[in-house]
Amino acid sequence: MEASASFPITLGGDDMMIPVRCFTCGSVVADKYEEYRDRVNAGEKPATVLDSLGLKRYCCRRMLLAHVEVVEEVVKHGKF
Ligand SMILES: [Zn+2]
Repeated sequence: MEASASFPITLGGDDMMIPVRCFTCGSVVADKYEEYRDRVNAGEKPATVLDSLGLKRYCCRRMLLAHVEVVEEVVKHGKF
């Protein structure tokens, strides 16, 4: 995917469009998303990865588990 020069957020496969903090408890989760995604894509179980990343609370675990990268689809149809 290509990055857009005019849009302030870099778009592409390495984006962290996941919310920076957990909605419920405020713990920072965005910095763990890339490692989570890469390890799950490599075949590890999500539960194992979340445990090793230190995400114990289920409010934080759902932030990564339930995240779907749809920003490319949304941007395609948006008007700025
Ligand atoms: Zn949380």
